[in-house]
Amino acid sequence: MLRTPGVAPLLEEVDVLDPAPGEVMVRMVASGLCATDAHALSGYQPIPRYPVVLGHEGAGIVEKVGAGVKGLVEGDHVVLALWSDCGVCKQCVRGRCDECDSDWHRTGFAGVQADGRSRLRQSGAELYPLFGVGTLAEHTTVRAAQAIRIDPDLSLEAMCLTACAVGTGVGAVLNTADVKVGDTVLVVGCGGVGLNVIQGARIAGASTIVAADVSAANLELARAFGATHLMNTAERPLDLSDLAPDGVDVAFEVVGHPELIAECLRLTRIGGSCIIVGLTAPGATIAVDGRLMTGARRLIGCRSGGGVPQYNIPLMAGLYRDGRLLLDELIGRRLPLADAAHALTTMDNGVVGRSVVTFA
Ligand SMILES: [Zn+2]
Ligand SMILES: [Zn+2]
Repeated sequence: MLRTPGVAPLLEEVDVLDPAPGEVMVRMVASGLCATDAHALSGYQPIPRYPVVLGHEGAGIVEKVGAGVKGLVEGDHVVLALWSDCGVCKQCVRGRCDECDSDWHRTGFAGVQADGRSRLRQSGAELYPLFGVGTLAEHTTVRAAQAIRIDPDLSLEAMCLTACAVGTGVGAVLNTADVKVGDTVLVVGCGGVGLNVIQGARIAGASTIVAADVSAANLELARAFGATHLMNTAERPLDLSDLAPDGVDVAFEVVGHPELIAECLRLTRIGGSCIIVGLTAPGATIAVDGRLMTGARRLIGCRSGGGVPQYNIPLMAGLYRDGRLLLDELIGRRLPLADAAHALTTMDNGVVGRSVVTFA
């Protein structure tokens, strides 16, 4: 739990209220650690309300079901999505609930339920679950629409990753970029999300997938996830003059660095797309020249992979079952909740792959 940015998060006892109508209480089984939690910690990315219970990449088992909930029963295995479909706005109806701008979406993201209150208390005062889920906790009460049921034989430790890292990367390819069979794709940044852009591109049928990173270890993983060409940009500048002299069909920037975004855009072909997946610092500006217009190129922001979780997560579950979506291979280490705070404050400590908190 984090009271304010810039201070160490604490492991504390919190009261988790029973689910109101339309909500469920979930016993967490696994929760991945994401850079966004670390950004909330440092204050790099402001979040709506404090104190906040961190964690937003979780999976668990439904323990209590509020009145009126359809499609979920006690004992169901669920992945907790970052948002839910409001069901009525134009964007949600057309399948882009990541673009929802309704009160439902805003309050949900802030960890507030339909009655304007959260379901977390400490000495009577409210705490807020990050993005409405707050998964670095033994229990959480969430909107039922954010709890996506999956088959109980699937690993919850693996499937939790579809809530953020995998969903963001794969969704950027399938929902935002619409990569086509045979495309040439560039992925700059091969961390937890970038690897999933790579495997999304492989699943979509891209024939050439160029992975660029400054870490040799990340690049080795990139190869395992489907990259066909590796470029270590710590050793030499990114150069696609042989591989894609006319530019790539789609470039993904998964670092959040304005100069890299501009470079990715420069490396797209006429009519190509540059997808911004990495989170840039607040206020950062990206230099774009006239080739955006004269070459009919597209520069597109992608928020958490887009689309509708009720569609995306079962899709990824099916790809995982088929062996096409690698999840277990993403897990770099497992750790107990007691070690999560330290792990979040030292995210760049050389662990390759995702850190996943497992609950006994
Ligand atoms: Zn995340
Ligand atoms: Zn909506």
